[in-house]
Amino acid sequence: MSENKKAEKIVGVKGMNDILPADAPMWELFENTVQSVLQSYGFQKIVTPIVEDTSLFSRAIGAVTDIVEKEMYSFEDSMNGDQLTLRPEGTAGVVRAVIEHNLAYEGPKRLWYKGPMFRHERPQRGRYRQFFQVGAECIGFSGPDVDAELIMLCRRLWDDLGLSNIRLELNSIGNAEERNAHRADLIAYFEQHIDQLDAEAQRRLHANPLRILDTKNPTMQDLVNNAPRLLDYLKDESLAHFNGVKKILDANNVQYTVNPRLVRGLDYYNRTVFEWVTDELGAQGTVCAGGRYDPLIEQIGGKPTPAVGFAMGIERLIELMKLAGEPHEPAQCDVYMVHQGEAAQLQSFILAERLRDAGLDVILHCATAAGAGSFKSQMKKADGSGASFAVIIGEDEVASQTAAVKSLGEQQQETVPFDQVVDYIVDHIVGDHDHDHEHVHYHP
Ligand code: ATP
Ligand code: MG
Repeated sequence: MSENKKAEKIVGVKGMNDILPADAPMWELFENTVQSVLQSYGFQKIVTPIVEDTSLFSRAIGAVTDIVEKEMYSFEDSMNGDQLTLRPEGTAGVVRAVIEHNLAYEGPKRLWYKGPMFRHERPQRGRYRQFFQVGAECIGFSGPDVDAELIMLCRRLWDDLGLSNIRLELNSIGNAEERNAHRADLIAYFEQHIDQLDAEAQRRLHANPLRILDTKNPTMQDLVNNAPRLLDYLKDESLAHFNGVKKILDANNVQYTVNPRLVRGLDYYNRTVFEWVTDELGAQGTVCAGGRYDPLIEQIGGKPTPAVGFAMGIERLIELMKLAGEPHEPAQCDVYMVHQGEAAQLQSFILAERLRDAGLDVILHCATAAGAGSFKSQMKKADGSGASFAVIIGEDEVASQTAAVKSLGEQQQETVPFDQVVDYIVDHIVGDHDHDHEHVHYHP
């Protein structure tokens, strides 16, 4: 390329987002909050690879689902011919790891994960090709108690995040036998009204008719509302489980509506299914979806083990948090080092390291293409950084082995010997800490 020809700009992959520094504090707040809520219910973290064997997802998720039919990023590893897929969801990988490492051997497990998922969808608000989920999986628990506990964990998270407009929809989809009985009647019903089914519904009629109930097509709403209800096909055991969940939720004042059309997109669910939904995000209003998946572990080669879990979409929750009010811009550091001249710069490096040893966040002024900058322009940067103190060193300070320590809030300046700068700032920041902890990063 010739030197004066401008290189062509490369942009990010469609539907995959950058999380920019301006949004990072919101993400951190979400991540810290969800982690502490999960810990308060005894969940342990698990991290699995972003890539798995394609067969894991086709077996775990089910062939006639949006994900496996048309959303998976699958490819052949050209080095060895392996068939691989970027994970479209987290449960399959977690369950694979639990089986592979025999994790459920010592007893039931409460696990959680966080990370990017990949689905080749049409990008739109709240729907991306790379998106982040936090999920929880309770492996080896069979009763309604843990289903209710998962739901209550979510309620606590919404509370802690200050999100109030999220409602709970609940349903039971019974077991395979009950679904089969319902399915026969459902197909018969839809066949009677075949002219009202859209193309997708017609295609799914015999493969996965339950999914038709999930349609977002407005012209089919009356049809699906009047369809046979799976709830009416549940027998004693499934009903007892469902009632068990509702009883715990009722006793704990958890509000919900039973939505008989709630079926979930993935095939492996049974019994309890739930979604947390908001009206504030337009069409993509489901922020968390979960349910029981007792048949899954056996289906992918493990010993029969009951399980239940949920996954929440972080982008949608971040958007809700933004609507609820942005937290004010956090400070980048506690101390900003301002210096002029080579000897002062070297002294600044030494002091900055000592301040960091003491647990402070420090930005040391560094040169740009325009040069190191005057004292004045460096002080502007110090003010803009949100630091509590600027430590200023020039030739005079080097000569007297002192620094000018300026409190940026109070605009007061003191001369402090080099070897007392750390103690001076730590004392003042800890003192400050009681009044205004939000702006202080100090972490001894
Ligand atoms: P939908 O019917 O909206 O496609 P889904 O059934 O495919 O949802 P799940 O697989 O249950 O969604 O995923 C759980 C949660 O993850 C969703 O409720 C949503 O918050 C989030 N999510 C799913 N797909 C996306 C996506 N493409 N972009 C952003 N978030 C997503
Ligand atoms: Mg989907």
